[in-house]
Amino acid sequence: MTPLVIASANGHQYRNGGTETCVERVFRLMTDGADPADPLEAIVDGVTIVELDPTETSVGFGGLPNADGVVQLDACCMHGSRGRAGAVAALEGIATAAAVAHRVLVETHHHLLAGQGALDFAISRGFAPQGDLMTPRSRGLWIDWRRRLDALLSTDPSLAADARRRAEAGYEIGLAMSREGLIDPNHLWGTITCSAIGPKGDVCGVTSTSGLAWKIPGRVGDSPIPGAGLYVRGGVGAAGATGRGESTLYSLSSFAIVEAMRRGAHPKDAGMAALKEIKDTTVDPSLLNARGAPNFNVKLYIVNAAGDYAGVALYGGDAVRYAVCGENGAELMPCEALIDQGHEFVD
Ligand code: ASP
Repeated sequence: MTPLVIASANGHQYRNGGTETCVERVFRLMTDGADPADPLEAIVDGVTIVELDPTETSVGFGGLPNADGVVQLDACCMHGSRGRAGAVAALEGIATAAAVAHRVLVETHHHLLAGQGALDFAISRGFAPQGDLMTPRSRGLWIDWRRRLDALLSTDPSLAADARRRAEAGYEIGLAMSREGLIDPNHLWGTITCSAIGPKGDVCGVTSTSGLAWKIPGRVGDSPIPGAGLYVRGGVGAAGATGRGESTLYSLSSFAIVEAMRRGAHPKDAGMAALKEIKDTTVDPSLLNARGAPNFNVKLYIVNAAGDYAGVALYGGDAVRYAVCGENGAELMPCEALIDQGHEFVD
């Protein structure tokens, strides 16, 4: 079996001051001839690089916080050949959410721990809470966002009582900050997802995120939910998602992709079918752009047990890429787009 690692682009963009990116570390650890790591342990180790890198504002330490200025992390891991999953949701104070999710998989018979319970569990397993996970940069961005929202609330006090309009206004401010170049458009939403086929054919995956920037406190996205932000099935393959989590939650996109592959679909065709399902089920006018298409992006990263892979997205473009690492090293590749390759999704 030829081992392979696939991840969102940040899996080959951040090193946290070290020499390896996530996908490079995963590949090295799980193929180390003398002492190969279990592929899931290798992935958790690789994802930790990105979670701890303070310059990556969509994951772990330095991830953009919720509306109250608190970083709440979601993460999931799955081991295909062992048929096990572990996840945490709305975890505060510990940046390495994937490693905590892995302890849930290894040390409990549960799949998902949330909030204070997840934090208590992590502390009981030896994780040291760091308290505030904001960096000066992420705190500055949150203060800027909060100032803009407060200004809007002072001109339109009715917004304060309408949770939906208020959240939409907050999201619009985030988009404006991204257009002004203050936030990387990939980090308003943003996540790391990484899956691998090990040398013995094991299929494993991890997804970890700080979720949607400025989210309503307590909001949990797709990342920690098996079937939505990640799904792995031994002998079949894995799919991970980044982008608007509510859409992959609604369509259970990762599960749908792995099921399609189980029926024989190629990763790219399975991914495109899942994107089409998202497009077809996006009918709420507040989620459509002027062209009647979704006003958000979703990216899916897929590998089958034979090592065929694909990265697909609703919208493509130069910044919409995915990472792959195999025997010939790591590279970033363009995602194939369902809707088009050129337009911004907000156009
Ligand atoms: N899917 C993540 C969430 O909805 C965010 C992202 O990947 O951009 O929380």
